[in-house]
Amino acid sequence: MRCPFCSHEDSQVKDSRPSEDGAAIRRRRQCEGCGARFTTFERVQLRDLTVVKKTGEREPFDRAKLERSIAIACRKRDIAPERIERLVSSIQRQLETRGDEVQAVQIGEAVMDGLNAIDHVAYIRFASVYKDFTEPGDFADIAGKVGEQPAAEGSERKAEKPADEGKLL
Ligand SMILES: [Zn+2]
Repeated sequence: MRCPFCSHEDSQVKDSRPSEDGAAIRRRRQCEGCGARFTTFERVQLRDLTVVKKTGEREPFDRAKLERSIAIACRKRDIAPERIERLVSSIQRQLETRGDEVQAVQIGEAVMDGLNAIDHVAYIRFASVYKDFTEPGDFADIAGKVGEQPAAEGSERKAEKPADEGKLL
């Protein structure tokens, strides 16, 4: 645990005991660098997300599955795996803050927002599968949203040449 005062990497645990409500372990630590004392809390994080599909069917949230579907959309797009990993983590965090149950639709929208900020081709690929395009109008709708809603993820790719999208359209 990094010292909050001097950023030294190592600290010694001086004392460890459950918090009053038993929901966390409280540890008194002393920095091995500057000797400062501070307290950390270790908490149980037990949020088993359940995904509610459009049909009303429920299934446990599967991070690996989410990662796979994003990876497929990003195939051959020169996007670092760490980038995808970060996107998946940020989506998972978003979902976890909303409660124990998430709508499948919310996951899809979160992925689309994320991909739209990273790579427009991946975004359109994902959207076409996710939205299950049946009419040309659906496609135009999504294509029109390319580049909208810049998210926290990678604005550095914004200037990417639009030639790629031309091919797809
Ligand atoms: Zn320190």
